[in-house]
Amino acid sequence: MSNVIDHASRSHALLSASSAVRWLACTPSARLEEQFEDKGSPYAAEGTLAHEIAELKLRKYYTEAMAKSTFTRRLNKLKKQEHYQEEMLKHTDTYLEYLQEITLAMDSVPYVAIEKKVDFSSYVPEGFGTADCIIISKNTLYVNDFKYGKGVQVSAEDNPQMKLYALGAYLEYSFLYPIEKVHMSIVQPRLNSISEYEITIQELLQWGDEIKPIADKAFKGEGEFSPGDHCKFCKAKAVCRARADEYSALDDFHQMKPPLISNDEVGLILEKAQGLDSWVKALKDYALKESLKGNEIPGWKAVEGRGSRNFIDQDKAFKELQEKGIKEAMLFERVPLTVPKIEKQLGKKEFRELVEDAGLVQKSPGKPALAKSSDKRQAITNQVDAKDDFK
Ligand code: SF4
Repeated sequence: MSNVIDHASRSHALLSASSAVRWLACTPSARLEEQFEDKGSPYAAEGTLAHEIAELKLRKYYTEAMAKSTFTRRLNKLKKQEHYQEEMLKHTDTYLEYLQEITLAMDSVPYVAIEKKVDFSSYVPEGFGTADCIIISKNTLYVNDFKYGKGVQVSAEDNPQMKLYALGAYLEYSFLYPIEKVHMSIVQPRLNSISEYEITIQELLQWGDEIKPIADKAFKGEGEFSPGDHCKFCKAKAVCRARADEYSALDDFHQMKPPLISNDEVGLILEKAQGLDSWVKALKDYALKESLKGNEIPGWKAVEGRGSRNFIDQDKAFKELQEKGIKEAMLFERVPLTVPKIEKQLGKKEFRELVEDAGLVQKSPGKPALAKSSDKRQAITNQVDAKDDFK
């Protein structure tokens, strides 16, 4: 999960499945992180609650004979929690419906385990985690993950977190079931995303053998610090020296001649500067916290931000204003909703019938934007082809 907030991170394994992308890429990061406090975030709390609602629904459907009244009572209890949002009901339904679609298509009753603790310590020292839902039918092991976060879309393809859960599940169930294939899925309903990936057991076990020595290094805190995309989920992201060195290496370009840099250098600098924004943000957050603690960050200090004014009782204030002759039009703005918002309100089908089919919606091309060459979209230019020009 993360902003990929992982439910399984409730467990406190040093090498957790949810942080595997990071410790596999930067082995000393797991030990380095130990010196940082584990602070929860509102997003994590939201994710945990959404998981509890999903768990209740799955248990009722798959594993527990639960009276309707018991279900309602338990759900109402969850609804009273601070981070509850009405949309959690809809999104957990999407997750349950996805699983139902899988299991209803099976011609025999599958084995289902919900919130299953899995142990993958044969591959990763002290490695364990909690898989959201494990399903086994015939020779296929299904490992399903529900992600409530919407910050980053997570793909199931080659996803180390999913593969570690799969290894743990395989170790637990291979004595009972003739597992030959693993089907992994990540359901991320707030991003309308369901990602699936399938591999054979041989491929999974081979991957497990490949990561074993890396996990051993990570457990011992050995290896090279290796900055990259994964840094954004690292607790050391603000003050890690390797990350700072990566960005300060931009200085190297000052030594380059001639005075104007070439397109090759532009590409190189952009490559190096990726993630600079998020690094500077992490540094600022860190410096603010330090300043508030009374620790000095030379050249910087914490100050009170700009305050805001709000009505204590908006209804009362508006009533007062209108009684004094202020017109309603001066108090409210009527702003039309955008196409995506209206489509969301009406649903795709009704929106298409009412306005799209009537030719009332036009699609304009987006503004040209810079993307990495690995981006799936096709490259564009504004240069007219010489042949077209001639025609
Ligand atoms: S910030 Fe990046 S480079 Fe530094 S320890 Fe964390 S993952 Fe490794």
